[in-house]
Amino acid sequence: MTERLAIEDLTVRYGGVSAVTGLTLTVEPATCTALLGANGAGKTSTLRGITALEPAQGRVLLGEQDVSSWSASRRARTGIGHVLEGRHVFPGLTVADNLRVAAGRAKAAPIVDPLELLPELVPHLDRRAGGLSGGQQQMLAIARAVAAAPRAILLDEPTNGLSPKLVDRIIEIVALLRDAGFAVLLVEQRLEVAQGLDADVVVLRHGVAEHRGRGSDGDLADVLHHAYLS
Ligand code: ATP
Repeated sequence: MTERLAIEDLTVRYGGVSAVTGLTLTVEPATCTALLGANGAGKTSTLRGITALEPAQGRVLLGEQDVSSWSASRRARTGIGHVLEGRHVFPGLTVADNLRVAAGRAKAAPIVDPLELLPELVPHLDRRAGGLSGGQQQMLAIARAVAAAPRAILLDEPTNGLSPKLVDRIIEIVALLRDAGFAVLLVEQRLEVAQGLDADVVVLRHGVAEHRGRGSDGDLADVLHHAYLS
């Protein structure tokens, strides 16, 4: 079962410095929200606060369940899937074993079969993950998150460093995850990804939601330009 993901008044601080301040947003099942903004705007910190990889104040809800006091591992086990920035896979394990390890931690069967979602991984099942291309490692990182049977999914800059063709494929994969029913919260630098998905958009600036809209909004490029420059 997929669930709504909500954060209320989320604040993430590093020492005395606030990276995210009082952020509230809801991602409904079968929808995608893109967090956009300049480097350092607080996008990654928002995701890390949601999954408790960084301590955060405020509330995190998965469906009706308030998970705010839960550890990172409990949140992961209970269904907040997180594809971290930088393609986290086990490089020494084969692709098949990477998926097995992820599935072994799951409490339920995945809603989406990772290899049906990402058939391009099938020819590489017996290869070491560390020997895959950057794009293939990103696909594997997504497949691992899906194999762990999440109920909502966070993706941190999945198109980072990929070719235009692979960016299009990532857009397609995120759309498939959304259409399978997941609440998808996506961090992106590329406007075209939010546009391609016609995602709900939250533009962060200095850790605060400065603008909310849609990927298809005609003024989004101008809004982002402002957020990047100021
Ligand atoms: P990027 O696109 O560069 O990843 P971002 O929007 O994801 O940017 P964050 O990585 O969340 O932004 O960073 C928000 C702020 O918090 C920045 O000022 C950053 O320097 C600071 N920050 C991030 N991680 C840490 C950390 N581990 N310790 C101290 N400060 C940090």
